[in-house]
Amino acid sequence: MAKHIFVTGGVASSLGKGITASSLGRLLKQRGLKVVLQKLDPYINVDPGTMNPFEHGEVFVTDDGSETDLDLGHYERFVDVSLRRPSSVTTGSIYQAVIARERKGDYLGKTVQVIPHVTDEIKARIKAIATDDVDVVITEVGGTVGDIEILPFLEAIRQFRKDVGRNNVCYIHLTLIPYLGTSGEQKTKPTQHSVTELRSRGIQPDVIVTRSDKPLAPGLKEKISMLADVSEAAVVSAVDLDNIYRVPQALHEEGLDDYVLGLLQFDKDKYPLDLAVWNAMAEKSASPKRTVTIGIIGKYINLADAYLSVVEALKHGGLFYDTKVDIELISAEQITPMLAESTLAGLDGIVIPGGFGNRGIEGKIAAASYSREHGLPCLGICLGLQTMVIDVARNIAGLEGAHSREFSEESQYPVIDLMEEQRSVANMGGTMRLGAYVARLRPGTQVATIYGEEIVSERHRHRFEVNPRYKQRLEDAGLVCSGLSPDGSLVEFIELPGHPYWIGTQAHPEFKSRPDRPHPLFRELVAAALTYAAEEAKSEISDLGTEAEEFQNVRVPL
Ligand code: GLN
Repeated sequence: MAKHIFVTGGVASSLGKGITASSLGRLLKQRGLKVVLQKLDPYINVDPGTMNPFEHGEVFVTDDGSETDLDLGHYERFVDVSLRRPSSVTTGSIYQAVIARERKGDYLGKTVQVIPHVTDEIKARIKAIATDDVDVVITEVGGTVGDIEILPFLEAIRQFRKDVGRNNVCYIHLTLIPYLGTSGEQKTKPTQHSVTELRSRGIQPDVIVTRSDKPLAPGLKEKISMLADVSEAAVVSAVDLDNIYRVPQALHEEGLDDYVLGLLQFDKDKYPLDLAVWNAMAEKSASPKRTVTIGIIGKYINLADAYLSVVEALKHGGLFYDTKVDIELISAEQITPMLAESTLAGLDGIVIPGGFGNRGIEGKIAAASYSREHGLPCLGICLGLQTMVIDVARNIAGLEGAHSREFSEESQYPVIDLMEEQRSVANMGGTMRLGAYVARLRPGTQVATIYGEEIVSERHRHRFEVNPRYKQRLEDAGLVCSGLSPDGSLVEFIELPGHPYWIGTQAHPEFKSRPDRPHPLFRELVAAALTYAAEEAKSEISDLGTEAEEFQNVRVPL
């Protein structure tokens, strides 16, 4: 039977529950256990698919086409598992299921209530993920204890221990230990309050993970142990680190995995930890040999989390080449053909990421043109590919005013359009191409060489496609469609011969990149950026830097 670990948070949001859960997941995996992870999110949206990335960060897409919280991205990157829909649970999805059953009459005339009907549904979702082949389920409860919205989740996980047995459940509570400059002290009071709040819901934590910017002062663990009523070995200090991939080792040094295994009655000696390969990867970031600067030409530049998986994938590529990747978020709205030169100066490569809506679209197209004309490495993702196609159509194929039907109903040349079957479906929400689709790569192309495979599978999240009616014209103009759907009807990858790296994909390769297994497209983008940087240095075109300063306000270093 699977054992369960529940991770809750207190004091403040954004403490890194997701990173903690993921890091523990990696530790347990490296001890030979089969781990799955799950997130319980308190919001009413049925899934995050409809949420604005500007508010909530990116929507992470799984192989099975679920639109999920970005924490699932952390889980996948750290534990290297491919998660599915049951790993993402929201209050909205719980209520949707309960109300559907009520309408069907499944409750046989009973009054449908939060306890037991909603809590039972939550528990059923947790149990559903604990399949026979799983040793440990790590379930992260979103939000902070004390939030009204998470009460049903807390009640469900409280009951869970009674249902499956005391030794099969471990509660980990993450809190913040703030440092007060005025008194020069780290404060435990918020932790105390947060534990009290958790207890008032009937949950006594087994482990307290403290987040702080500096190591805990001597005696503090003892104090927290006393006030939270956990053993001192169960107080785990998690200090801010420069690189999240170092967190598993740090938590191991604090004894977290040992303690949890003991608590869940695993024979620790049977499960020795082997974290050497992971650590070697994580430590590479400490001594990079080179640096490149890559710009993300985005719409949501004030919230870095909006492009979290892209940012991480770039870093993975950097780790592979012992390279520090400086990432700049650049507002597409500020880019015009005239200003492209100065806005993009100093970059060694760009990513034009996915997106929805008109804002900044011309800037993205201008960035695509600029990178094409100047040999600047460019990876276009989903909407990014679409802007590259529009650029080629307008500026090489002579299709003046070419556009995507998403942004222009009038364009004479809708080079990006809805496919027939999508057009006929009235409910737009249902028409998205979501999840894993395979593509066949054309042998000998740059994309095929980079992947080193002919059949590849990538995750999708979009409605529009390259319009097959224009495929020949685009190819006549020099564009190479280097990957197609297996039946040949949809363009999945494009490239431009002669350019060092001008590649677009209709999919979202960032979701499948792992720190220890960088995605080939990102890995080789970094390689191309290194070459570009070396050539730039050789030709000493460094005076563009001063000009770029004027545009600092549109470029946000990450
Ligand atoms: N808006 C575009 C489409 O729906 C691209 C979507 C994306 O970039 N994820 O096709």
